[in-house]
Amino acid sequence: MAISFEDARRLILTAVKPLGYEQVPLLNAAGRVLVEDFHAPWDMPRWDNSAMDGYAVCAVDAATRGDLRISGYIPAGCTELPPVEPGCAIRIMTGAPIPPGCALVVPVEETEERDGKVRLLTSLRVQDHIRFQGEDIPAGSKVLAAGTLLRPPEISLLASFGQSLVSVHRRPRVAILSTGDELVELGMPLGTGQIINSNALSLAAAVREAGGEPLLLGIARDTLESHREKLAQGLNADVLITSAGVSAGDRDLVRDVLQELGVEQKFWKVAIKPGRPTAFGVKGGTLVFSLPGNPVSTMVTFEMFVRPALRKLQGVTPAVLPLDRALLSEPVRKRPERMQFMRVQVRHDQGRLLVSSSGDQNTGILSTMVRANGIVLLPADRDRLEAGEEVDVLLLDRSVPESGPDISNRFRCAH
Ligand code: AMP
Ligand code: MG
Repeated sequence: MAISFEDARRLILTAVKPLGYEQVPLLNAAGRVLVEDFHAPWDMPRWDNSAMDGYAVCAVDAATRGDLRISGYIPAGCTELPPVEPGCAIRIMTGAPIPPGCALVVPVEETEERDGKVRLLTSLRVQDHIRFQGEDIPAGSKVLAAGTLLRPPEISLLASFGQSLVSVHRRPRVAILSTGDELVELGMPLGTGQIINSNALSLAAAVREAGGEPLLLGIARDTLESHREKLAQGLNADVLITSAGVSAGDRDLVRDVLQELGVEQKFWKVAIKPGRPTAFGVKGGTLVFSLPGNPVSTMVTFEMFVRPALRKLQGVTPAVLPLDRALLSEPVRKRPERMQFMRVQVRHDQGRLLVSSSGDQNTGILSTMVRANGIVLLPADRDRLEAGEEVDVLLLDRSVPESGPDISNRFRCAH
């Protein structure tokens, strides 16, 4: 019996525990996930400083339109701070400490300087153009929570607080194994009836994109010995992904050999299309995903099952990428009792997302996947959906084009 998509994903996520951590140089930490909360070790900014290149003046001179004598100069990084006296102004640079007596900074654009004197062209208020100590981040406050994905802004923040090393979750090591006698490796001569092992490449790319380290195990041939050797090797990784050899074909050996090697099978067969023969099991700390061999099915089941597991292993929340809501631009027929993943083109249209099929939905049609920028999840309990109905869509990239006659070129077919 095939289990539901939701149950399958629940079983997977229940089995996944985040990996341990390692310290990495901040320079290499982008895309990694923080293990612990980070508290500010000091105030940000550390001292009151000027937000502009300009003149530091006293409160009594804020509204002056007369000339002020320029009595000093404070560049960024200066530690000698002469006080500002009434009737005087000190030239000050962005980021330089605010000197005693200064109540505001007048930007240089709003002044006129002549013969050692400066005239203020506008009247400003006390505190204008000063960045106050701790106004951004007070010392001791929690600025980043455990589980935060490190993007350039988080890296900037950690660098500003002097963190040259950070503790992040380990990257999952993901073994990738293809199975089948018909396969040849990319770059090798291609005989009649042979197929290039493209799944290894698409899976390695997807694993890398999801933050994992792919380990390519090559091809297991359709013999018990070959399967035993390669699958046993794969069980040393954090995750083992196999493709093909899990359907009911009599040479599909993956399931039997995994069982023989002590993998506890959590499910096999899910009520989805494509991807019905997907299986999942666990041995010790290794998660084992057996994906179908058809390249489209392999990629779709990776998105639906493996990517959330890789996210959770790395402590990323939420593990499951959120779906968007979109309107169907055309009616769709489907088989009832299975959730169907429809490859679609998503575009913006009058403030809504609109989806239409990216082509022939047959599992063997790879070009439909290449043209797709989204996957719609058509509910299991429906057999027909109407144009204008709202559906859930997983965006495969965030660059969704605007509707119109000139939708992105990548959606144009050559024929
Ligand atoms: P299977 O699951 O073994 O029945 O394979 C389903 C289809 O996917 C067959 O047409 C296979 O030739 C194809 N296939 C299996 N493995 C791969 C692979 N690693 N790369 C590309 N195509 C594959
Ligand atoms: Mg096969």
